[in-house]
Amino acid sequence: MSKPVLVVGGGPAGLSAAHALASVGQKVVLVEKEDTLGGAPILSGYAKLAPSFEWAKDAIGPMVDRVVNSGNVEVVTGATVKEFSGEPGNFAATLSNGNTVEASASILCTGFTHFDSINKPEWGFGTFPDVVTTTQVEQMISSGQGIRRPSNGEKPKRVAILLCVGSRDRQIGREWCSKICCTVSAKMGMEIREELPDCHVYIYYMDIRTFGLYEEIYWKSQEEHKVKYIKARIAEVTSDGDKVIVKGEDTLVKRPITIPFDMVVHAIGMDPNVDNMTLSAVFGVDLHNWGYIARQNTYGVMGATSRPGVFVAGAATGPETIDDSIAQGTAAAMSVISSLNDAMPVAAE
Ligand SMILES: Cc1cc2nc3c(=O)[nH]c(=O)nc-3n(C[C@H](O)[C@H](O)[C@H](O)COP(=O)(O)OP(=O)(O)OC[C@H]3O[C@@H](n4cnc5c(N)ncnc54)[C@H](O)[C@@H]3O)c2cc1C
Ligand code: SF4
Repeated sequence: MSKPVLVVGGGPAGLSAAHALASVGQKVVLVEKEDTLGGAPILSGYAKLAPSFEWAKDAIGPMVDRVVNSGNVEVVTGATVKEFSGEPGNFAATLSNGNTVEASASILCTGFTHFDSINKPEWGFGTFPDVVTTTQVEQMISSGQGIRRPSNGEKPKRVAILLCVGSRDRQIGREWCSKICCTVSAKMGMEIREELPDCHVYIYYMDIRTFGLYEEIYWKSQEEHKVKYIKARIAEVTSDGDKVIVKGEDTLVKRPITIPFDMVVHAIGMDPNVDNMTLSAVFGVDLHNWGYIARQNTYGVMGATSRPGVFVAGAATGPETIDDSIAQGTAAAMSVISSLNDAMPVAAE
Protein backbone atom coordinates (compact mmCIF):
# COMPACT_ATOMS: atom_id res chain seq x y z
CA MET A 1 0.00 0.00 0.00
CA SER A 2 1.46 3.38 -1.01
CA LYS A 3 1.86 6.28 1.40
CA PRO A 4 -0.84 8.99 1.43
CA VAL A 5 -1.01 11.57 -1.33
CA LEU A 6 -0.46 15.12 -0.12
CA VAL A 7 -3.06 17.46 -1.66
CA VAL A 8 -2.31 21.13 -1.00
CA GLY A 9 -5.27 23.53 -1.19
CA GLY A 10 -8.91 22.76 -0.41
CA GLY A 11 -10.72 24.64 -3.20
CA PRO A 12 -12.71 23.02 -6.03
CA ALA A 13 -9.57 21.46 -7.58
CA GLY A 14 -8.18 20.10 -4.28
CA LEU A 15 -11.58 18.80 -3.15
CA SER A 16 -12.02 16.98 -6.43
CA ALA A 17 -8.50 15.51 -6.37
CA ALA A 18 -8.94 14.34 -2.77
CA HIS A 19 -12.35 12.82 -3.50
CA ALA A 20 -11.12 11.02 -6.62
CA LEU A 21 -8.16 9.50 -4.78
CA ALA A 22 -10.23 8.55 -1.73
CA SER A 23 -12.89 6.91 -3.87
CA VAL A 24 -10.35 4.36 -5.18
CA GLY A 25 -9.07 3.65 -1.66
CA GLN A 26 -6.01 5.91 -1.75
CA LYS A 27 -5.25 7.68 1.55
CA VAL A 28 -4.96 11.48 1.29
CA VAL A 29 -3.70 14.27 3.53
CA LEU A 30 -5.35 17.54 2.48
CA VAL A 31 -3.54 20.66 3.74
CA GLU A 32 -5.43 23.98 3.50
CA LYS A 33 -3.97 27.24 4.75
CA GLU A 34 -7.29 28.82 5.73
CA ASP A 35 -9.57 27.51 8.49
CA THR A 36 -12.37 26.68 6.02
CA LEU A 37 -12.45 24.41 2.97
CA GLY A 38 -14.08 25.40 -0.34
CA GLY A 39 -11.57 27.76 -1.93
CA ALA A 40 -12.44 31.10 -3.52
CA PRO A 41 -16.17 30.45 -4.06
CA ILE A 42 -16.65 29.90 -0.31
CA LEU A 43 -13.83 32.01 1.20
CA SER A 44 -14.78 35.02 -0.96
CA GLY A 45 -18.54 34.52 -0.56
CA TYR A 46 -19.58 34.10 -4.20
CA ALA A 47 -23.33 34.16 -4.86
CA LYS A 48 -24.74 32.18 -7.80
CA LEU A 49 -22.18 30.48 -10.03
CA ALA A 50 -21.93 30.64 -13.80
CA PRO A 51 -23.01 28.75 -15.80
CA SER A 52 -25.22 26.67 -13.49
CA PHE A 53 -26.77 29.56 -11.47
CA GLU A 54 -26.47 27.33 -8.38
CA TRP A 55 -25.58 29.15 -5.15
CA ALA A 56 -21.87 28.64 -4.44
CA LYS A 57 -22.51 27.19 -0.99
CA ASP A 58 -24.98 24.66 -2.44
CA ALA A 59 -22.57 23.65 -5.21
CA ILE A 60 -19.34 23.48 -3.21
CA GLY A 61 -20.77 22.49 0.20
CA PRO A 62 -21.44 18.85 -0.79
CA MET A 63 -17.92 18.62 -2.24
CA VAL A 64 -16.54 19.69 1.14
CA ASP A 65 -18.81 17.27 3.03
CA ARG A 66 -17.84 14.19 1.02
CA VAL A 67 -14.14 14.90 1.61
CA VAL A 68 -14.52 15.71 5.32
CA ASN A 69 -16.65 12.58 5.83
CA SER A 70 -14.33 10.29 3.89
CA GLY A 71 -12.45 7.76 5.98
CA ASN A 72 -9.56 8.03 3.52
CA VAL A 73 -8.91 11.78 3.85
CA GLU A 74 -7.16 13.50 6.74
CA VAL A 75 -7.95 17.22 6.55
CA VAL A 76 -5.46 19.68 8.06
CA THR A 77 -6.67 23.31 8.01
CA GLY A 78 -4.81 26.46 9.05
CA ALA A 79 -1.51 25.00 7.83
CA THR A 80 0.98 25.26 4.97
CA VAL A 81 3.87 23.07 3.80
CA LYS A 82 7.23 24.44 4.94
CA GLU A 83 9.58 21.73 3.66
CA PHE A 84 9.24 19.00 1.07
CA SER A 85 11.92 16.48 0.17
CA GLY A 86 12.40 13.00 -1.24
CA GLU A 87 11.56 11.06 -4.38
CA PRO A 88 8.35 9.87 -6.05
CA GLY A 89 6.77 7.26 -3.79
CA ASN A 90 8.76 8.46 -0.81
CA PHE A 91 8.37 12.16 0.01
CA ALA A 92 8.43 13.83 3.44
CA ALA A 93 6.68 17.14 4.15
CA THR A 94 7.00 19.35 7.21
CA LEU A 95 3.92 21.46 7.95
CA SER A 96 3.77 24.91 9.56
CA ASN A 97 2.05 23.30 12.60
CA GLY A 98 5.22 21.21 13.18
CA ASN A 99 3.71 17.91 12.00
CA THR A 100 5.35 15.78 9.32
CA VAL A 101 3.58 13.91 6.53
CA GLU A 102 5.02 11.00 4.58
CA ALA A 103 3.64 11.07 1.06
CA SER A 104 3.90 9.07 -2.14
CA ALA A 105 3.09 12.08 -4.34
CA SER A 106 1.66 15.57 -4.09
CA ILE A 107 -0.93 17.62 -6.01
CA LEU A 108 -0.71 21.41 -5.77
CA CYS A 109 -4.24 22.86 -5.91
CA THR A 110 -3.32 26.22 -4.46
CA GLY A 111 -5.42 28.37 -6.77
CA PHE A 112 -5.14 32.07 -7.48
CA THR A 113 -5.20 35.48 -5.80
CA HIS A 114 -7.89 38.05 -6.70
CA PHE A 115 -6.44 41.09 -8.48
CA ASP A 116 -6.23 44.02 -6.05
CA SER A 117 -7.91 46.97 -7.79
CA ILE A 118 -5.72 49.39 -5.82
CA ASN A 119 -3.18 48.56 -8.55
CA LYS A 120 -5.43 50.34 -11.09
CA PRO A 121 -5.77 53.67 -9.21
CA GLU A 122 -7.01 55.73 -12.17
CA TRP A 123 -10.21 53.65 -12.16
CA GLY A 124 -11.22 54.94 -8.74
CA PHE A 125 -11.14 51.91 -6.43
CA GLY A 126 -9.94 52.87 -2.96
CA THR A 127 -10.66 56.55 -3.71
CA PHE A 128 -14.44 56.57 -4.19
CA PRO A 129 -16.58 54.29 -1.95
CA ASP A 130 -19.05 53.54 -4.75
CA VAL A 131 -16.33 51.91 -6.84
CA VAL A 132 -16.36 48.23 -5.85
CA THR A 133 -15.24 44.85 -7.22
CA THR A 134 -17.19 41.87 -8.57
CA THR A 135 -16.20 40.02 -5.40
CA GLN A 136 -17.83 42.71 -3.26
CA VAL A 137 -21.03 42.56 -5.29
CA GLU A 138 -21.03 38.75 -5.02
CA GLN A 139 -20.82 39.22 -1.22
CA MET A 140 -23.66 41.81 -1.22
CA ILE A 141 -25.88 39.25 -2.97
CA SER A 142 -24.81 36.11 -1.05
CA SER A 143 -25.09 37.82 2.36
CA GLY A 144 -28.69 38.81 1.62
CA GLN A 145 -27.83 42.49 2.09
CA GLY A 146 -28.66 43.23 -1.54
CA ILE A 147 -26.97 45.59 -3.97
CA ARG A 148 -26.52 48.97 -2.29
CA ARG A 149 -24.26 52.00 -2.76
CA PRO A 150 -21.58 51.75 -0.04
CA SER A 151 -21.56 55.58 0.32
CA ASN A 152 -25.19 55.94 1.46
CA GLY A 153 -26.84 52.50 1.50
CA GLU A 154 -29.24 53.45 -1.31
CA LYS A 155 -30.30 51.21 -4.19
CA PRO A 156 -28.30 52.23 -7.27
CA LYS A 157 -30.23 53.38 -10.36
CA ARG A 158 -27.29 53.14 -12.76
CA VAL A 159 -24.42 50.67 -12.47
CA ALA A 160 -21.36 50.30 -14.74
CA ILE A 161 -19.36 47.07 -14.79
CA LEU A 162 -15.83 47.56 -16.19
CA LEU A 163 -14.29 44.43 -17.72
CA CYS A 164 -10.62 43.37 -17.82
CA VAL A 165 -9.59 45.06 -14.56
CA GLY A 166 -6.21 43.50 -13.82
CA SER A 167 -6.25 41.37 -16.99
CA ARG A 168 -5.07 41.96 -20.57
CA ASP A 169 -3.24 45.02 -19.28
CA ARG A 170 0.46 45.08 -20.14
CA GLN A 171 0.94 48.44 -18.38
CA ILE A 172 0.50 46.72 -15.04
CA GLY A 173 2.20 43.44 -16.01
CA ARG A 174 -0.92 41.35 -16.47
CA GLU A 175 -1.13 40.11 -20.02
CA TRP A 176 -3.49 37.19 -19.49
CA CYS A 177 -7.24 36.98 -20.04
CA SER A 178 -8.83 35.86 -16.76
CA LYS A 179 -11.30 33.73 -18.70
CA ILE A 180 -14.33 33.92 -16.39
CA CYS A 181 -14.93 37.64 -15.76
CA CYS A 182 -16.96 38.39 -18.92
CA THR A 183 -19.35 35.58 -18.02
CA VAL A 184 -19.43 36.52 -14.33
CA SER A 185 -20.20 40.15 -15.30
CA ALA A 186 -23.02 39.19 -17.68
CA LYS A 187 -24.45 36.98 -14.93
CA MET A 188 -24.07 39.80 -12.40
CA GLY A 189 -25.80 42.26 -14.75
CA MET A 190 -28.77 39.88 -14.84
CA GLU A 191 -28.77 39.52 -11.04
CA ILE A 192 -28.71 43.29 -10.56
CA ARG A 193 -31.61 43.75 -13.01
CA GLU A 194 -33.57 40.99 -11.25
CA GLU A 195 -33.15 42.56 -7.81
CA LEU A 196 -33.48 46.16 -9.00
CA PRO A 197 -35.63 46.25 -12.16
CA ASP A 198 -35.37 50.08 -12.31
CA CYS A 199 -31.57 49.99 -12.33
CA HIS A 200 -29.78 50.38 -15.68
CA VAL A 201 -26.67 48.21 -16.08
CA TYR A 202 -23.93 49.03 -18.58
CA ILE A 203 -20.98 46.69 -19.25
CA TYR A 204 -17.86 48.42 -20.63
CA TYR A 205 -15.80 45.98 -22.70
CA MET A 206 -12.80 45.67 -25.03
CA ASP A 207 -13.93 42.27 -26.35
CA ILE A 208 -16.52 39.88 -24.96
CA ARG A 209 -15.03 36.47 -24.19
CA THR A 210 -17.95 34.38 -23.00
CA PHE A 211 -16.37 31.31 -24.53
CA GLY A 212 -18.24 28.22 -25.70
CA LEU A 213 -21.65 27.62 -24.15
CA TYR A 214 -21.13 30.60 -21.81
CA GLU A 215 -22.15 32.77 -24.78
CA GLU A 216 -25.75 31.89 -23.85
CA ILE A 217 -25.43 34.04 -20.71
CA TYR A 218 -24.18 36.97 -22.82
CA TRP A 219 -27.21 36.88 -25.13
CA LYS A 220 -29.65 36.30 -22.29
CA SER A 221 -28.27 39.28 -20.38
CA GLN A 222 -29.04 41.55 -23.34
CA GLU A 223 -32.23 40.08 -24.73
CA GLU A 224 -34.09 39.13 -21.55
CA HIS A 225 -32.52 41.41 -18.94
CA LYS A 226 -31.72 44.46 -21.07
CA VAL A 227 -28.12 44.78 -19.87
CA LYS A 228 -26.38 47.24 -22.22
CA TYR A 229 -22.87 46.78 -23.62
CA ILE A 230 -20.51 49.65 -24.51
CA LYS A 231 -17.30 48.91 -26.43
CA ALA A 232 -14.91 51.44 -24.94
CA ARG A 233 -11.45 52.39 -23.78
CA ILE A 234 -11.73 53.78 -20.28
CA ALA A 235 -9.49 56.71 -19.38
CA GLU A 236 -10.46 57.35 -15.76
CA VAL A 237 -13.15 57.15 -13.11
CA THR A 238 -13.77 60.38 -11.17
CA SER A 239 -16.53 61.72 -8.92
CA ASP A 240 -18.63 64.88 -8.51
CA GLY A 241 -19.04 64.12 -4.81
CA ASP A 242 -22.18 62.02 -5.39
CA LYS A 243 -22.01 60.14 -8.71
CA VAL A 244 -19.00 58.25 -9.97
CA ILE A 245 -18.14 59.30 -13.51
CA VAL A 246 -16.69 56.97 -16.13
CA LYS A 247 -14.73 58.80 -18.81
CA GLY A 248 -13.40 57.17 -21.96
CA GLU A 249 -13.83 56.68 -25.66
CA ASP A 250 -16.62 54.74 -27.35
CA THR A 251 -14.45 52.78 -29.76
CA LEU A 252 -17.32 51.83 -32.10
CA VAL A 253 -18.30 55.43 -32.93
CA LYS A 254 -14.87 56.85 -32.00
CA ARG A 255 -16.05 59.67 -29.75
CA PRO A 256 -15.47 60.56 -26.10
CA ILE A 257 -18.10 59.43 -23.60
CA THR A 258 -18.61 60.61 -20.03
CA ILE A 259 -21.40 58.92 -18.07
CA PRO A 260 -22.29 59.34 -14.37
CA PHE A 261 -23.22 56.23 -12.37
CA ASP A 262 -24.32 55.43 -8.82
CA MET A 263 -21.93 52.48 -8.65
CA VAL A 264 -18.98 51.24 -10.69
CA VAL A 265 -17.96 47.57 -10.46
CA HIS A 266 -14.46 46.36 -11.37
CA ALA A 267 -14.56 42.88 -12.97
CA ILE A 268 -11.32 41.80 -11.30
CA GLY A 269 -9.02 39.18 -12.76
CA MET A 270 -7.25 36.11 -11.43
CA ASP A 271 -3.63 36.84 -10.44
CA PRO A 272 -1.13 34.05 -9.74
CA ASN A 273 -1.35 32.99 -6.08
CA VAL A 274 0.87 35.33 -4.04
CA ASP A 275 2.34 32.18 -2.43
CA ASN A 276 3.67 30.82 -5.74
CA MET A 277 7.31 31.92 -5.24
CA THR A 278 7.31 30.10 -1.90
CA LEU A 279 5.51 27.06 -3.30
CA SER A 280 8.01 26.94 -6.17
CA ALA A 281 10.94 27.00 -3.74
CA VAL A 282 9.47 24.50 -1.26
CA PHE A 283 8.25 21.96 -3.84
CA GLY A 284 11.03 22.56 -6.37
CA VAL A 285 8.61 23.21 -9.25
CA ASP A 286 9.05 25.70 -12.10
CA LEU A 287 6.72 28.65 -12.56
CA HIS A 288 5.30 29.90 -15.86
CA ASN A 289 6.82 33.27 -16.78
CA TRP A 290 3.58 35.00 -15.68
CA GLY A 291 3.91 33.46 -12.20
CA TYR A 292 1.46 30.53 -12.32
CA ILE A 293 2.70 26.99 -11.58
CA ALA A 294 3.97 25.62 -14.90
CA ARG A 295 2.52 22.47 -16.41
CA GLN A 296 5.22 20.28 -17.84
CA ASN A 297 3.24 18.14 -20.23
CA THR A 298 0.13 19.47 -21.94
CA TYR A 299 -1.27 16.25 -23.37
CA GLY A 300 0.55 13.12 -22.13
CA VAL A 301 0.35 13.32 -18.32
CA MET A 302 -2.35 15.61 -16.98
CA GLY A 303 -1.08 17.95 -14.28
CA ALA A 304 2.61 17.05 -14.47
CA THR A 305 4.98 19.73 -13.13
CA SER A 306 8.75 20.02 -13.63
CA ARG A 307 9.25 17.73 -10.60
CA PRO A 308 8.37 14.03 -10.93
CA GLY A 309 5.79 13.01 -8.34
CA VAL A 310 4.46 16.57 -7.89
CA PHE A 311 1.32 17.46 -9.87
CA VAL A 312 -0.79 20.60 -10.25
CA ALA A 313 -4.47 21.29 -10.94
CA GLY A 314 -6.97 24.14 -11.19
CA ALA A 315 -6.37 27.88 -11.10
CA ALA A 316 -2.85 27.30 -9.77
CA THR A 317 -1.96 26.70 -13.44
CA GLY A 318 -3.61 29.93 -14.71
CA PRO A 319 -7.13 31.40 -14.85
CA GLU A 320 -9.66 28.54 -14.81
CA THR A 321 -13.36 28.02 -14.33
CA ILE A 322 -14.68 25.94 -11.46
CA ASP A 323 -15.79 23.02 -13.63
CA ASP A 324 -12.42 22.90 -15.40
CA SER A 325 -10.62 23.11 -12.04
CA ILE A 326 -12.68 20.15 -10.82
CA ALA A 327 -11.88 18.21 -13.99
CA GLN A 328 -8.18 18.96 -13.62
CA GLY A 329 -8.24 17.84 -9.97
CA THR A 330 -9.69 14.47 -10.99
CA ALA A 331 -7.27 14.20 -13.92
CA ALA A 332 -4.27 14.91 -11.68
CA ALA A 333 -5.53 12.27 -9.24
CA MET A 334 -5.60 9.78 -12.12
CA SER A 335 -2.05 10.79 -13.08
CA VAL A 336 -0.95 10.11 -9.49
CA ILE A 337 -2.63 6.67 -9.44
CA SER A 338 -1.07 5.74 -12.75
CA SER A 339 2.39 6.96 -11.67
CA LEU A 340 2.15 4.94 -8.44
CA ASN A 341 1.03 1.83 -10.35
CA ASP A 342 3.87 2.27 -12.86
CA ALA A 343 6.32 2.38 -9.94
CA MET A 344 4.94 -0.79 -8.27
CA PRO A 345 6.88 -4.01 -8.81
CA VAL A 346 4.87 -6.38 -11.02
CA ALA A 347 4.05 -9.62 -9.14
CA ALA A 348 5.61 -12.80 -10.61
CA GLU A 349 3.00 -15.14 -12.14
C1 LIG B 1 -15.12 37.39 -8.87
C2 LIG B 1 -14.98 35.99 -9.40
C3 LIG B 1 -16.14 35.23 -9.60
C4 LIG B 1 -16.03 33.93 -10.12
N1 LIG B 1 -17.17 33.24 -10.38
C5 LIG B 1 -17.07 32.04 -11.01
C6 LIG B 1 -18.26 31.36 -11.47
O1 LIG B 1 -19.38 31.83 -11.31
N2 LIG B 1 -18.08 30.17 -12.13
C7 LIG B 1 -16.85 29.62 -12.35
O2 LIG B 1 -16.75 28.56 -12.98
N3 LIG B 1 -15.72 30.24 -11.89
C8 LIG B 1 -15.81 31.42 -11.25
N4 LIG B 1 -14.68 32.07 -10.83
C9 LIG B 1 -13.40 31.34 -10.91
C10 LIG B 1 -13.25 30.42 -9.67
O3 LIG B 1 -13.03 31.22 -8.52
C11 LIG B 1 -12.08 29.44 -9.88
O4 LIG B 1 -12.34 28.68 -11.06
C12 LIG B 1 -11.92 28.44 -8.73
O5 LIG B 1 -11.91 29.09 -7.48
C13 LIG B 1 -10.60 27.66 -8.92
O6 LIG B 1 -10.55 26.63 -7.97
P1 LIG B 1 -9.14 26.14 -7.37
O7 LIG B 1 -9.45 25.07 -6.39
O8 LIG B 1 -8.20 25.85 -8.46
O9 LIG B 1 -8.54 27.42 -6.62
P2 LIG B 1 -9.10 28.26 -5.34
O10 LIG B 1 -10.58 28.34 -5.35
O11 LIG B 1 -8.30 29.52 -5.36
O12 LIG B 1 -8.67 27.37 -4.11
C14 LIG B 1 -7.32 27.27 -3.71
C15 LIG B 1 -7.27 26.84 -2.26
O13 LIG B 1 -5.90 26.66 -1.89
C16 LIG B 1 -5.64 27.33 -0.65
N5 LIG B 1 -4.23 27.72 -0.65
C17 LIG B 1 -3.64 28.71 -1.36
N6 LIG B 1 -2.32 28.75 -1.11
C18 LIG B 1 -2.06 27.76 -0.22
C19 LIG B 1 -0.87 27.31 0.41
N7 LIG B 1 0.31 27.88 0.19
N8 LIG B 1 -0.98 26.25 1.28
C20 LIG B 1 -2.18 25.66 1.52
N9 LIG B 1 -3.34 26.07 0.94
C21 LIG B 1 -3.28 27.10 0.08
C22 LIG B 1 -6.59 28.51 -0.67
O14 LIG B 1 -6.82 29.02 0.63
C23 LIG B 1 -7.83 27.91 -1.32
O15 LIG B 1 -8.67 27.28 -0.38
C24 LIG B 1 -14.75 33.36 -10.35
C25 LIG B 1 -13.60 34.12 -10.12
C26 LIG B 1 -13.70 35.42 -9.67
C27 LIG B 1 -12.45 36.22 -9.48
S1 SF4 C 1 -12.79 37.08 -19.52
FE1 SF4 C 1 -13.50 39.03 -20.39
S2 SF4 C 1 -13.26 40.52 -18.69
FE2 SF4 C 1 -12.05 38.74 -18.17
S3 SF4 C 1 -10.00 39.27 -18.90
FE3 SF4 C 1 -10.98 38.03 -20.52
S4 SF4 C 1 -11.90 39.54 -21.88
FE4 SF4 C 1 -11.42 40.62 -19.96
